[in-house]
Amino acid sequence: MRSTLQRLLVTFALLALPAVSSAQTMFRFPASQLADQCGNGGCTVSAYKDYGGRDYACGGVRYSGHTGTDYALVGGFSKMDYGVWAMNAARGYVEASVDGYYDRCNYWDQANPYAACGLYTANYIIMRHPDNTQTWYWHLKAYTQQFARGTTLACGNWIARVGSSGASTGPHLHFEYWVPGYGTDDPYAGSCGTPYTRWTAQGAYRGLPGITCQ
Ligand SMILES: [Zn+2]
Repeated sequence: MRSTLQRLLVTFALLALPAVSSAQTMFRFPASQLADQCGNGGCTVSAYKDYGGRDYACGGVRYSGHTGTDYALVGGFSKMDYGVWAMNAARGYVEASVDGYYDRCNYWDQANPYAACGLYTANYIIMRHPDNTQTWYWHLKAYTQQFARGTTLACGNWIARVGSSGASTGPHLHFEYWVPGYGTDDPYAGSCGTPYTRWTAQGAYRGLPGITCQ
């Protein structure tokens, strides 16, 4: 029979182990949904993460080897010139950033990864969140980044404008979710993906996630 002290210790041990959900950073949609931005159909999902030929919902909105989600600007370069804000999807700090590369790419030069419009010439921001996960914001418009590396941000700031730098065929935000010790993961939950959503409101297939911050 357990003593009261033993029962208390067991209870404490259970309370001391946080449920996975309590430690998990959840995300809002990573761009503005104001009416002149991604609202009113201003942005659309052009590719989800690839699960070997399917997306998280067992559909075909992916391309081979794609590791994130692409939110394309409806209206292309004219919408990019007007300006659409990418937003940090949760609180955290700016861990890494690159800026200054050409941002009007409409092709992808796989053979020259360090040339303009190659694999390694995107303007980007990487945010680190309280649970150590990262969110990546890729292909940003040049010289629109608002915060220096190391800056701590509440959820939902305008961090930079969506562009078409790097391996990009048109203006879009590539949003990617990274888990330490694991690598790239998917914030969407679905029958061909992971069982746990990382969105505060995932929304409909091919729709946009909600804008509520955790
Ligand atoms: Zn992408």
